[in-house]
Formats: sequence, structure tokens, C-alpha cells
Amino acid sequence: MIIFDWAFISATFVFQYLYMNYANNILETIGNTPLVKLNHITKDLPCTVLAKYETFNPGNSVKDRMALQMIEDAEADGRLKPGGTIIEGTSGNTGMGLALAAIIKGYKMICVISDKQSQEKIDILRAVGSEVHVCPTDVAPDDPRSYYSVSKSLSTEIPNSWYVNQYDNPSNCKAHFQSTGPEIWDQTDGKVTHFVVGVGTGGTISGVGSFLKLKNPNVKVWGIDTYGSVFKKYHETGIFDENEIYPYVTEGIGEDILPLNVRFEIIDGFTKVTDKDAAVYTRKLAKKEGMFLGNSAGAAIKGLLQLKAHFGPDDVVVVLFHDHGSRYVGKMYNDEWMAKMGWLDE
Ligand code: PMP
Repeated sequence: MIIFDWAFISATFVFQYLYMNYANNILETIGNTPLVKLNHITKDLPCTVLAKYETFNPGNSVKDRMALQMIEDAEADGRLKPGGTIIEGTSGNTGMGLALAAIIKGYKMICVISDKQSQEKIDILRAVGSEVHVCPTDVAPDDPRSYYSVSKSLSTEIPNSWYVNQYDNPSNCKAHFQSTGPEIWDQTDGKVTHFVVGVGTGGTISGVGSFLKLKNPNVKVWGIDTYGSVFKKYHETGIFDENEIYPYVTEGIGEDILPLNVRFEIIDGFTKVTDKDAAVYTRKLAKKEGMFLGNSAGAAIKGLLQLKAHFGPDDVVVVLFHDHGSRYVGKMYNDEWMAKMGWLDE
């Protein structure tokens, strides 16, 4: 009897030891995010719409994926050395992903951010130990005060530093080709027919889009752009039209440059969403679907609704939602801010 008890206790101990289920650090929790069906906001569409819900990443955005990939690729080829300083111009989410990886891996993090970004994003970056430099938005990219220029000059001044440059860094697109794209393919059992996503650096659309098209060339890839950004016109005409560039409110998407990570050849089309619609639909996602998300999710879902004529009853449309609503409580989720913008007539 005693021998039996001992054997039972030992077996239980071994079983628990073998089957404990934990991550060794926070970086191991990046990826494998849920795919969630939209049931209300899309009710007038003929197709199934599934949201790739990236706020489940530890930094609450899709950018954790590419941040880790960019760091690991730079470590592997010696661009980033032990004890080094990571410098990036970021609208906040990439900075958050880089900051988390910097903490775990022992680097110093400097974020250069434009002054149109929400105060919450700046506070969050400081909370995770980043030094933050805030630069004016309304200057040309080559102006020495722009956040592109300040990032570059800091990286020449600070010894043992590495300028990430998410716009042109191929590891950005690679992260989505290797993780986000395969997850969407597997989660839809290969039935995805369309991918719709907001475009900033282009890493998400290009990485996911090229993976899905590799698996099935018939998959259609749509980019969501803003008024005030060059992407749609450039895709349609090949012309970089400076008249398309003017200040806008929507955060995270649209650009006044052509990043190398936007692979225009794999994108089937762009649709533009107004600042007001992006804000109003961000609030609708929270109220109608219980999805408390960032501003670019509102732009993405409104853009998807604008594309209604392209979808049929058998289609499975995947839309990717980049980040979490907590970063926008002082803006789109604030009634006074919405009223001040003249947008509180939903
Ligand atoms: N939405 C948000 C909130 C973002 O931070 C970004 C990144 N700028 C995007 C969308 C666009 O993603 P990508 O840079 O991969 O094109």
C-alpha cells in the first residue's frame, strides 16, 4: 500500500512538472492571436468577416511581432551589439514592442514620436522605460526637426546605437510573412478570400498579403488609406503626388513617403477613409461588437464596408485590427474631443 501511494505521488509530481504550461518571458507570448467573427457592424455584407485581433499581443498591438523580428535579425548580423541603444521613429506601437524586447534583452530604448500622437502613447512608452523625443508633425520628412531626421541624427551621435527604420527594414515584412500570414491561413483552414488592412509602413499588408497569395494567388488584398496620404494615388497612377499630402487626424495609417515595405505589386487596391468615419467607426466597434480598439481599426472596418460590392456570399474576408482602445481614451473615445471635432452626431 505504501509503495502504491509513493508511486502515485511520484507519478503526479512528474506529470505536473512535465505539463506545467508557462512562457519563459513575455516575448514568448507574442503571436497566436485569436480570429473573431464580426456579427453586427457587418450585417449588411453578404460575406463572413473575421477579425485578426492583435491586441492580444503583450504590447497590445500587432507591432510586437515585427519589433522582435527586427531586433533578432539585427542581433544575428551584428547591427545591434550587447548593451547597445535602439533608436526608432515610431507612432507608438512599434516603440512599445521594441521597448518590451529591449527590457528582456538588456538594451536602452529611444523613441522619436510626432506630436500628433496621443498623450497616452507617449506616457505608455515612458512607462516601459523608453526615452521619448517629441517632434513636430507639420514639417517635411527631410526637415531636420521631422521625426525621420531626428531619429537618423540621434543614431549618428550616440555610440553603439542602431536605427531600426521600420519603413525600409525587411524584417518588418518578414515577421508578418512568417507569423501573421500563416496564422490567418491556418485559422481559416485556407478559406480566406480577401485580406483588408490599414497601411502605414506596409509591413503588415505586404507580409501577410504575399504569404496568402503564395498559398492561393486568388486571394485579394486591400489596403486602407487616409485622406492626406500618398498611397492610393501612387498605386493607381504611379505618380507620387505632393498635393495628396496634408495633415490628418487618423493615427497609424497613411504616409507622406513611400516606404520600401509597401509592396504595391501584391496590393489589389486601396480605399480611403475620412478622419471622421475612422473615429465614428472606432466607437461603433466598441459599442456594437464589444471590441475596444484603436483608431486604425475604425478606419479598417469602414474601408471594408466601402468595399461591399467586391464581396460575395461564399467569401471569407479577414480584417486585421492593429491596436487597443486604451491608447485613444483622450481622443476618439472622449465625447468632448469628438464634439470639438464636430463628429458627435453618430
Ligand atoms: N495601425 C496602427 C495603430 C499602427 O500603429 C500601424 C503602424 N504604423 C498601422 C496600423 C499600420 O501597420 P503597418 O505599419 O504594418 O503598415
